[in-house]
Amino acid sequence: MVLNITCIPGDGIGPEIVSQAKKVLEAVAKKYGHEMKFTDILMGGASIDACGEPLTDEAIATAKAADAVLMGSIGGNTSTSPWYKLPPEKRPEAGLLKIRKALNLFANLRPAYLYEELSAACPLKEEISKAGFDMLIMRELTGGLYFGERKTIEEGGELKAIDTLTYSESEIRRIAIKGFEIARKRRKKVTSVDKANVLDSSRLWRKVVNEVAADYPDVTVEHMLVDNCAMQLVKDPAQFDVILTENMFGDILSDEASMVTGSIGMLSSASLNDTKFGLYEPSHGSAPDIAGQNIANPIATVLSAAMMLRYSFDLDKEADAIEGAVRQVLKDGYRTVDIYSEGMKKVSCSEMGDLLCERV
Ligand code: NAD
Repeated sequence: MVLNITCIPGDGIGPEIVSQAKKVLEAVAKKYGHEMKFTDILMGGASIDACGEPLTDEAIATAKAADAVLMGSIGGNTSTSPWYKLPPEKRPEAGLLKIRKALNLFANLRPAYLYEELSAACPLKEEISKAGFDMLIMRELTGGLYFGERKTIEEGGELKAIDTLTYSESEIRRIAIKGFEIARKRRKKVTSVDKANVLDSSRLWRKVVNEVAADYPDVTVEHMLVDNCAMQLVKDPAQFDVILTENMFGDILSDEASMVTGSIGMLSSASLNDTKFGLYEPSHGSAPDIAGQNIANPIATVLSAAMMLRYSFDLDKEADAIEGAVRQVLKDGYRTVDIYSEGMKKVSCSEMGDLLCERV
């Protein structure tokens, strides 16, 4: 199979971690008889420096022509970088919003997985972390409170702010279908999170999720109120497989879930549209404090590449090979500086890439 992948190395540690992910993908291609065709585009600060804007129309056209996009991360030190003296629409992050919109990426996936070897970094009680967890938060990304009409008015001599939370059936249906499809590739359980005891939008959410669930009799569905879900994530995270939720709840819950893993350099993410197309990137930022030192942890980006193989190309075996290599490298005691603990073998970013390739 020929895989046309647009890569966005981006800023800070971005180029270092993306080149490791490319190396691992090449190792997978060699083993399983595929061909990787990478095309790089500029985005964020790198694009501002070269083209005067955070993402050009030409770069968007290149991304659209690919099967999937693999990104490092963008942005610089927000206090010292000259990029942050520009107006907001010219700053690096504007490129990210522009590409998400141009590619119609409405489903955001963030897995939270606790590796046994890194369980000491988990801030939960030992009896909870010992059980491990492996969940995926699927957050609706283009609707809800963050995109509804908002205004501030004066009423009765004081200011009053209004934000609107709207969801249509079709917006809920398309993300619910994604959630159930992805649950089928995992442990076949969907926990739909809402606030249906209070919000109309949540009652509609629940109704549509139940309608979609009828088409997936092999997937178990349960409904949970968001406040309960926030508690359950720290009390019993092992109960979750796919958490399906709207934009704001997903924003908060996905950060909570990633914190309980304790390892930011390990967390991948994907943003999908209603085709097989997706943008895959680590959950962390561009870490300007360690850029250019070859010490960043490339695993989050490498795991994002595994998600890309699984969700954009349906190459499950190949994705398993990458995830297996990550588990093995940790078992073998290799650690980048961010996850290093005494007695382990400290390796650089590129050494970690090489070790992963060997294990693929
Ligand atoms: P950050 O995630 O870049 O860094 C937070 C801390 O984690 C730093 O100490 C950093 O060294 C460390 N870290 C992050 N990733 C690491 C890795 N792979 N290996 C080892 N250590 C790692 O967050 P920040 O400092 O708040 O943001 C820096 C820049 O990144 C900002 O410009 C911000 O806007 C941008 N950002 C971009 C994205 C994106 O591209 N999607 C996401 C978040 C932040």
